[in-house]
Amino acid sequence: MQYTTKNEKETYSLGKEFGESLKGGEIIGLIGDLGAGKTSFTKGVANALSIKNTVTSPTFVIMKAYEGRKKLVHIDAYRLTGYSDLRSIGIEDYLNNNTIIIIEWADRLKDELPFAIRNITFEITDDSRIISF
Ligand code: ADP
Ligand code: MG
Repeated sequence: MQYTTKNEKETYSLGKEFGESLKGGEIIGLIGDLGAGKTSFTKGVANALSIKNTVTSPTFVIMKAYEGRKKLVHIDAYRLTGYSDLRSIGIEDYLNNNTIIIIEWADRLKDELPFAIRNITFEITDDSRIISF
C-alpha cells in the first residue's frame, strides 16, 4: 500500500491511522532519509496510543519510552550497527505484547534480527513524501 502526503500534518495523520490498527507487540522499522517524515509519522502513532507526552526525535538518546494505552518505544538506529547494540540499550525489556517498538533507520541494522520487523519506507520528492507499507 502506498500513500502520498503533502505536508507534515498529513504524515502525522497517516501515522495516527496506522497507530489505531496496532494491538501491541509490533516492531516497526521506518526507512527513509533525514527529513523524510519518520518522526512526524511516529508522533501520529503516539497520538493514536493516547500518549500525552510530546514525542521528540530520539537521535541523541537513541531510545525513548512513552506510556499510553500501550507503551511506545522509539529508537533511532542511525548510529547502531546490529542487534547487539539494541540489546545494550535494553530492547529485550520491551519485547512484549504491551509495547510497540518503532525503529527509525532500521536499515542501518545489518545483522539478522531475532524478531519480525515490519518496514515502512519514506521517499522524499520535491513537495511530498511517498510512504509505502
Ligand atoms: P525524519 O524523522 O524522517 O528525519 P521528520 O519527521 O523529523 O523526518 O521531519 C520531516 C521534515 O520534512 C519536517 O521539517 C517537515 O516539515 C518536512 N515535510 C515536508 N513535507 C512533509 C511530508 N509530506 N511529511 C512529513 N514531513 C514533511
Ligand atoms: Mg527522525
